Amino acid sequence: MKKLFVFFVAALCFCVGNKAMSPIVVSGTTGSDTCIIIDVSSDCARSINGTDVLTNYYCKYCGAKYSSISSLTAGNCPRHPNGKGKHTLYEGSEKSQYYCEYCGVKYSSISSLTAGTCSRHPNGKGKHAPYEGNEKSQYICKYCGAKYSSISSLTAGSCSRHPNGKGKHAPAL
Ligand SMILES: [Zn+2]
Ligand SMILES: [Zn+2]
Ligand SMILES: [Zn+2]
Repeated sequence: MKKLFVFFVAALCFCVGNKAMSPIVVSGTTGSDTCIIIDVSSDCARSINGTDVLTNYYCKYCGAKYSSISSLTAGNCPRHPNGKGKHTLYEGSEKSQYYCEYCGVKYSSISSLTAGTCSRHPNGKGKHAPYEGNEKSQYICKYCGAKYSSISSLTAGSCSRHPNGKGKHAPAL
């Protein structure tokens, strides 16, 4: 017999001027237990079990912020690496500091990070790009497994197993 948990998120939700609350029931399984989350609005800033749920969506190329992925990806991105293209979703979590995945420089916002030119950009020329993983005590190269204590030290070294034949270590998420 499976245990049934029901979390009422409505009480944790504080929306001002939001649209009429129409409950959405989301169900899923965690291990052998069944979990049902009753949500009130997908646009609403909310927390489930004390964990903040991402409600802002950022472009990884320019840091533009939107409340939905559909509005984000509808807009043209002024910093798109191909010169022209739509905003593209940054899939990491919201952080107080963002590191460049190519060189490890640190900025307080994605927009300020992606404004700067990266000296270790894999294309030879390009802007800093936000590392989408979380901050950790050791970063591992996704191509060869080399371990370093910072993204800047990791990406300073050449990787013998780089898929392009030549290139720097790159941090795994
Ligand atoms: Zn953008
Ligand atoms: Zn960089
Ligand atoms: Zn490597």
